[in-house]
Amino acid sequence: MRANLRVSSLIPAGLVVETVVENGNTIVVTARAAAGPARCPLCGSPSQFVHSRYVRRVSDLPCSGRAVCLRVVARRFLCKAQRCRRRIFAERFDGAVFAERSRRTNRLDCVVHHLGLALGGRPAASFATRLMLPVSNDTVLRVVRRRALPRTEPLTVVGIDDWAIRRNHRYATIVCDLERRRIVTLLPDREAATVQAWFANHPAIKIVSRDRGGGYGEAASKALPAAIQVADRWHLMENASAAFLTAVRKSMRPIRATIGATTINPELLTCAERLQYEGYLRREETNAAILALHKAGVAIKQIGRKTGHSRQLVRHVVRGVQGDVFRTRQSSLDAYLARLDAQWGNGCRNSAELWRRLRSEGFRGSPRVVCEWATRRRRAEKASNQQLQKVPSARTIARLMTTARDHLSKADTVTIAAIEAGVPTLVDARKLIDRFHAMIRKRTEADLDPWIEAASQSLVASFASGVSNDRACIQAAMAHPWSNGQTEGQINKLKLVKRQMYGRAKIDLLQARLIGAP
Ligand SMILES: [Zn+2]
Repeated sequence: MRANLRVSSLIPAGLVVETVVENGNTIVVTARAAAGPARCPLCGSPSQFVHSRYVRRVSDLPCSGRAVCLRVVARRFLCKAQRCRRRIFAERFDGAVFAERSRRTNRLDCVVHHLGLALGGRPAASFATRLMLPVSNDTVLRVVRRRALPRTEPLTVVGIDDWAIRRNHRYATIVCDLERRRIVTLLPDREAATVQAWFANHPAIKIVSRDRGGGYGEAASKALPAAIQVADRWHLMENASAAFLTAVRKSMRPIRATIGATTINPELLTCAERLQYEGYLRREETNAAILALHKAGVAIKQIGRKTGHSRQLVRHVVRGVQGDVFRTRQSSLDAYLARLDAQWGNGCRNSAELWRRLRSEGFRGSPRVVCEWATRRRRAEKASNQQLQKVPSARTIARLMTTARDHLSKADTVTIAAIEAGVPTLVDARKLIDRFHAMIRKRTEADLDPWIEAASQSLVASFASGVSNDRACIQAAMAHPWSNGQTEGQINKLKLVKRQMYGRAKIDLLQARLIGAP
């Protein structure tokens, strides 16, 4: 261990200290390069003819809470080589100390880069000021952009997905290296052509993990015909559940018939429900008209023109996707229904009083909500023999028949049993979806073809045909360990970084910040 510390050991190696001056909060170190010849940057021949000297100011790492400014006395040399066009050149510090024209030493640049990666432009700049590193936010961002590392490792397994630059307006694409758990690139949109061009530049890719929507599959098969495409397992499970919900929606009419709520007595409805019911009747008329035209063989486009309804609506009606009588929404009352029932049972029939009691327990809805509930309740009690039976929404039925099946209340059990007895096709659909989930979970590829075969005649036939079209990709999802879960995680990280940068998250900067971290 050395006995005393020399100032020269505190500044970058290769410089010789001449003077050190304190100037307020700044330490100004005057230094020069160790003597010796320098090489001409153009022809490379050494020269020792000093033409003149000039001073370069460079910031260095702070020292004991003070900013350090290097005054580097640099030399200009004469190049005497015969054929060289350059007569005078300034000495270089070879990039080891600071780069040509840089205002910061390399070691300071490195710290600024990491601050920028971790915090983004403005927060990094204000933090840097505290650390006595004099940089502006623009400088931080510039350094982050400049120092983004090009990748060197081979890329063989990628996950691809889209993410929102502006939700519902602009989407971009993210590509991740699933082996090294790193983002590879951000592409500015999710057009098939863009993705295809990118894939074409990376022919080493062997496996592409993707979701089933969008054009990624097509882009991958065009650009990388040999690569294996893997569907995301989580999305597959989700798609299957959605298919069952659609099946329930299609079966709402037989369900209503089974539960015995086909006839709705308008006398028993509240004001809001009556409006919904009238709307429903109107919709039913429209649907009947559309179906009649469809039966007569009129094309969807023509039906749209004749009835004045959108093509999408016509298509929905023709395919049998129909809305329910009452649009059931999550009500602010749902969480308080049990307490409300208890109060009612105790004999409190005044809706204003009920609302006051609920409010004291934290209910934040309006008195009107409670009043409607009380009205409905009173009417239902009045018509005791003609009970107001409300069919649960399609979503509720789907949930009760699947995930919540083991924890049904007594009333729900009766309802579901009635539905299962009355609409056997729905039970078949549920069994098929269960089978599909089990197949994905246990990764039994061999079951796929029999499943498609069985499902093609059921309520979930359209899902089955989708699965059949994407068969290779789904089979790969069961055969390979890769999944897009990791990509989703990277998207979350991206969103966090994007939010930190407020409105300045241009894609190249986002990419530099996400990929730049070594
Ligand atoms: Zn030269």
